[in-house]
Amino acid sequence: MTAELAPLPSKPAVAAPAPPLAMLCELSHRCPLQCPYCSNPTNLDAGGTEIDTATWVRVFNEAAAMGVLQVHLSGGEPTARKDLPELMRAASDAGLYTNLITSGVLLDGAKLAVLVDAGLNHVQLSMQDVEAPNADRIGGYAGGHAKKLELARWVVEAGVPLTINFVVHRQNLDSLERMIEMCIEFGAQRLEVAHVQYYGWALANRASLMPTREQLERATEIVDAARIRLKGVLMIDYVVPDYYAHRPKSCMGGWGRQFLNVTPAGKVLPCHAAESLTGFDFPNVMDHSLADIWANSEVFQRFRGTDWMPEPCRSCDRKEIDWGGCRCQAFALTGDAARVDPACQLSPDHALLDVAQIESGSEPPPYIYRRIGGLPGAPVKVG
Ligand code: SF4
Ligand code: SF4
Repeated sequence: MTAELAPLPSKPAVAAPAPPLAMLCELSHRCPLQCPYCSNPTNLDAGGTEIDTATWVRVFNEAAAMGVLQVHLSGGEPTARKDLPELMRAASDAGLYTNLITSGVLLDGAKLAVLVDAGLNHVQLSMQDVEAPNADRIGGYAGGHAKKLELARWVVEAGVPLTINFVVHRQNLDSLERMIEMCIEFGAQRLEVAHVQYYGWALANRASLMPTREQLERATEIVDAARIRLKGVLMIDYVVPDYYAHRPKSCMGGWGRQFLNVTPAGKVLPCHAAESLTGFDFPNVMDHSLADIWANSEVFQRFRGTDWMPEPCRSCDRKEIDWGGCRCQAFALTGDAARVDPACQLSPDHALLDVAQIESGSEPPPYIYRRIGGLPGAPVKVG
């Protein structure tokens, strides 16, 4: 089937690095929850545009042939796809380590057993808070928290390694100590504490979600202490927020260097938020092979390496450490994806982040919940 795909021009301006070790597959943007910080684009893919089973199977095989070792089956909610067991088996048969990233609310013990039989290696369960009222309010889904508690138990009973993912923000950060305790009670191996990253839905909800500096400092102290106390018991990953930073983080390990993401409609992105950038024509697995897209596509080359960088990045000794920060954040805040990430204190746009202290000190407005129709007043995507 790959032979029918159109080759891209094969003279890349910037040589492709080694293939990525992991691939994020957003199987569907459908999701029963409506988190106001969802990392999916505001212009969500409707169910009818999703690529079919056979195409995903080909993508898994192409990824494995490239050298990808791990596949994250995500969404939206990946269990919204009826063919998930078939996809799980295909990814596993291709030799990929399979991680299911799920909200958990559509799974039960029997469905989980089918996925385990099909080759499920790891579950990453997203949770919104530690008590149902606030957790269900954040996710916009009544009864969701109780279902997640059940799923955590089933996963551990099935002997599948479990990671709990808490996206943290102003309206749940004060529960952080209890979040850590819950992971120990579940028997989870890993906890990811991820501060909200402000693009797309989260940017629209920034004034509701932005923590105060005091909350952030307290959270960092709690994580530092827990990492020491729970060494060998619970691994804690901590994704810090950019808005109080002096230097940006190395977003995705650099554009087109370590990561690729396939959307429900088959578009291939260098980062899961890249569809927030306008003016980019993202290649599609329906038209080109994954390896060709990785090595030769214009989009993957656009910010690969350091040649694209403006000053002060170009002459900075951190340029191969943080790769100039996040392109989506630069675009979200300045309208130009090629500018220095404003999270850097050396950026001429750094003062734009002062808004964090103003917003976090004001009464939070109601959430704008994630929904298929996009942001209120936005045009609806048709294809
Ligand atoms: S962040 Fe929330 S709304 Fe978005 S896919 Fe995950 S569970 Fe669904
Ligand atoms: S100037 Fe550029 S490369 Fe240097 S720290 Fe800031 S963002 Fe990173």
